[in-house]
Amino acid sequence: MKKNLTLYPDTFLWTKDAFELLYNAKNYQSYEFVLTPFLSDLSHRLLDFSNFYSVDIDDEDMDEADRDFLCQVENRHLGVLREAGIRKTVSLPPLLCLQRGRKGKSDFMMDEFLLDLTSVLFYMGGNGWEGQFQLQAEYPFRSPEYLPVERLLPYLEKLYPFRQCSVRLLFSDMAHYPRAGMLMDRLSPWEKRLSLSVRASEAGLLAGWARGRGFGVEILHDVQIEGAAGLEDYGMDEEHVFFVKNTAGLEAASRFAEGLPHVRFVPLFTGKNRDFLEENVFLTREELLSSRVSKRIVFAHDVLNTHYYGKLVVMPDGKVHSHLGKPPLGDMDSFLHQIVKAEENENYAWKVLRNKGKCVRCLYRHLCPSPMCTRT
Ligand code: SF4
Repeated sequence: MKKNLTLYPDTFLWTKDAFELLYNAKNYQSYEFVLTPFLSDLSHRLLDFSNFYSVDIDDEDMDEADRDFLCQVENRHLGVLREAGIRKTVSLPPLLCLQRGRKGKSDFMMDEFLLDLTSVLFYMGGNGWEGQFQLQAEYPFRSPEYLPVERLLPYLEKLYPFRQCSVRLLFSDMAHYPRAGMLMDRLSPWEKRLSLSVRASEAGLLAGWARGRGFGVEILHDVQIEGAAGLEDYGMDEEHVFFVKNTAGLEAASRFAEGLPHVRFVPLFTGKNRDFLEENVFLTREELLSSRVSKRIVFAHDVLNTHYYGKLVVMPDGKVHSHLGKPPLGDMDSFLHQIVKAEENENYAWKVLRNKGKCVRCLYRHLCPSPMCTRT
């Protein structure tokens, strides 16, 4: 009997050697299978755009494995099987529509580059926690200098017109930041576009005025260093970030975090805790296949790095980076468009993709999170 198989428009079909992977970005169902000669031909025809993701099949050509494949496709709602009829069913494979190009006059292009700037993190410096974990996470590390307010304020003025760009000030040592009061007074116009990160033991310093100004507040916890500090000053509205390095730290952080609505756990690699990361952080194949990755993110993985795209980091010495493991793109005296253009040329972070080494030919690379950069 002749049948017709049509894949749904949210179902991706990827191939690698003798394997294929179907993934529906709407219901997050996936199915990985080994190609038989029949399925190889079927996939080839499905990927032929002129067939509109819909192909006729003959029951007599199939074996048990092929029939099982069709059952899985139906059961997981990856596509639909009908009797072949007069009316042909059509569908379309997931398509990427790039609405904003890079073509045009050079001054127009420059504006477009700056539109990609979505956030700037300022490390305010000072006496923070031990360990240089800022390569892995937004971490209140110890720095011998403070980012001077005289340099910060003019830079914020340069950023202010770019309404899509948010700003975060991360204080390692808020209590001793020079002229903090004057800085806070000048931040009011930023309202929701501005957020402040502060160590938990210093959260009380922000409590008086940050709430009323509408700023986002993030409390940074390492419960193995500071215990439950900060929870009495802030609680339900703010985001709480718990840095964890081992099982004991994770258990303690989980206890402190209980009942808080906005919590993130951020694992840190110390060089000695690989077992902890393997157990709690690294994704297994099964976890990757069961992850809920939207169509937008699948496409994004192909063109930009979803961790870093659009983000800049300013260090206490005024150097501007797209990733701290790479050389600076310039400093606070550089024009913004020079900084963004430098990242476009160097590609230290924003478009670092899974298109190198073994990832190039990996069946799961569209679902795999964008790579984190490492120091070179
Ligand atoms: S894309 Fe790269 S990192 Fe991800 S699963 Fe494949 S080989 Fe591993």
